[in-house]
Amino acid sequence: MPLIPKSHPRVKSLLIREKLVNGFDKGLVAKEGLLAQGRGEAFDYLLGEKTNKSASHAIKAAAAQLLVAEMPVISVNGNIAALCPKQIVKLSNQIKANLEVNLFYTNEKRKQAIVKILKKNGANKILGTKSTSSKKLPGIDSARRIVDKDGIFVADVVVVPLEDGDRTMALRKAGKTVITIDLNPLSRTSQTANITIVDNVTRAIDLLINESKKLSKKNQKSLLKIINEFDNKKNLRENVIQIKNNLTRRAKIA
Ligand code: ATP
Ligand code: MG
Repeated sequence: MPLIPKSHPRVKSLLIREKLVNGFDKGLVAKEGLLAQGRGEAFDYLLGEKTNKSASHAIKAAAAQLLVAEMPVISVNGNIAALCPKQIVKLSNQIKANLEVNLFYTNEKRKQAIVKILKKNGANKILGTKSTSSKKLPGIDSARRIVDKDGIFVADVVVVPLEDGDRTMALRKAGKTVITIDLNPLSRTSQTANITIVDNVTRAIDLLINESKKLSKKNQKSLLKIINEFDNKKNLRENVIQIKNNLTRRAKIA
């Protein structure tokens, strides 16, 4: 790994990029995954590279939603496996959700590499690995609609960090409650999900784990209140306004 000086103004962002590049070298990340990271980075820059108030609000709603879920599933792709394997396993234990490897660009070798890293980080049950368990989601073309019959197919709540818009739409059409983590508040996934956390997954996951721990002491009624009071469209607008305000401030400095 090239040495990134701690004093570099973009040090955190560069370290995340290095994780992705290492993940690519290890066969976890698809080429397209590197490009997706680039798109995310641009929005992170505009958001100020920190967890904003609206993201914290969405994290609270997501934690409540996961705690009331009967069968929550977390979808894991190559980028997630490269960026935060330990945290994703921790989250699945905290909220008692199954992990399902679900790749946009299907590739058996990559799937096995992802399973390996999840196991190394403590996962014992990983869905989405057996072709005999495959089921098809309606309303989406060929390979991209394959899900596990014991996982996403029967889940009521699905966490899809860094997901493509078509798949998010298919999940909604299939009646799933969708939670996403996506730095771009304008993406189709962000606009389609029930709860969108506009934040870098590397920051949001730990916060989601902590919030789930905190809210696990609350009763069902209080959790439902948090969910019902959350308005995703409003939250997305607040994120866009945050970007606009950041840009306005910079325009004044320049
Ligand atoms: P959509 O299909 O939803 O319209 P898209 O085609 O612009 O989105 P995809 O490549 O399909 O982009 O999805 C990847 C999404 O993940 C992008 O919106 C990108 O901003 C986001 N993203 C990439 N890296 C991160 C990250 N580290 N944390 C959070 N979000 C990220
Ligand atoms: Mg897309």
